[in-house]
Amino acid sequence: MRLSFAVLHGLPRLLLLTTALGVAFLTGCGEQGTSSEAVGPGASSASSDFKRDDGKLNVATTIAPLTSIILNVGGSRIHLRGLIPDGVDSHTYEPRPSDAEILSRADLLIMNGAHLEGTTEALAKTNLKDPKKIYRLAEATLSGDDPETGFLYDFSFPKEGGAPNPHLWMDPLYAMKYADLTRQWLSENDPKNADYYRANYEKFAAVLRQLDEAIRKDQLTVPTANRKLLTYHDSWAYWAREYGWTVIGAVQPSDFSEPSAKEVADLIGQIKRERVPAVFGSEVFPSKTLQAIAKEGGATFEDQLSDDAPPGDVRDVRHTYLGMLVEDMQIMFKRLGGSAIEVSKVPVANTATD
Ligand SMILES: [Zn+2]
Repeated sequence: MRLSFAVLHGLPRLLLLTTALGVAFLTGCGEQGTSSEAVGPGASSASSDFKRDDGKLNVATTIAPLTSIILNVGGSRIHLRGLIPDGVDSHTYEPRPSDAEILSRADLLIMNGAHLEGTTEALAKTNLKDPKKIYRLAEATLSGDDPETGFLYDFSFPKEGGAPNPHLWMDPLYAMKYADLTRQWLSENDPKNADYYRANYEKFAAVLRQLDEAIRKDQLTVPTANRKLLTYHDSWAYWAREYGWTVIGAVQPSDFSEPSAKEVADLIGQIKRERVPAVFGSEVFPSKTLQAIAKEGGATFEDQLSDDAPPGDVRDVRHTYLGMLVEDMQIMFKRLGGSAIEVSKVPVANTATD
């Protein structure tokens, strides 16, 4: 099997690594595999029970960050189910039979789009009460291929593959747009609660604005030469575009073969040449090989960045989109020689009122 490759900006192709623990990529962390329901502090009255016939919209979604964003807008006046369990690789997720049943009772599906959840989308088309009620956040947020404003194609999502980098939600300003689109779609389907959804949106947007401003302040504490990312999973492209950082590489395997000794040596040389101070893995994509390469290259290795799984379990107050971003920023800025003082002040709990 061949590895696919990550491409450096204007530099030769960077090898893609795989790992001795290849099977871990198939399943992600897996153990947290059932925590897809929108519950937890700040979401006390939200229900994920689609069986109740109480006039509330049944809203299905996919990954945990989207579940959190939608909960912040829909609050207690919708039923909400996230289909893709926390800690599972959303890019390769195969729907379960229970997903078809959930979708058959859903009034609408709000998904990321940009080819992230293709199998779930196919299932929704055949099972949703009204197959027209599939809403795609990424496509509604961006259009076109303008590298300044449109979809990005990069290391693990090359243009020739046809699927753009889907990780718009890692940019808090796009998350705000996602929340506003959610507000609009919920209101169209449930006009009597439009004012409630708007009020919730305004509260959530205010915290996202605070997060955005905090990132802009705290990133100034990171030495300019360190404002570059070498990550395992290619999820920081839009964030980097927003905040003026450089993603110098993403080390994402497309299969499970082992890199050659030369490929490993090339990557170590890359880390040294670029003076990369830290290499970032993620909990969903553990990589012993990346860890070893970071060490050889003289970089520290950090494996806790997340783009799919909010921290803690579903009862944890940090188990939110905001909690995930705050924790990521704390890890990233500190590892690269800065601080996260302002980011740490951002309240992470769900903001929706009951
Ligand atoms: Zn991802």
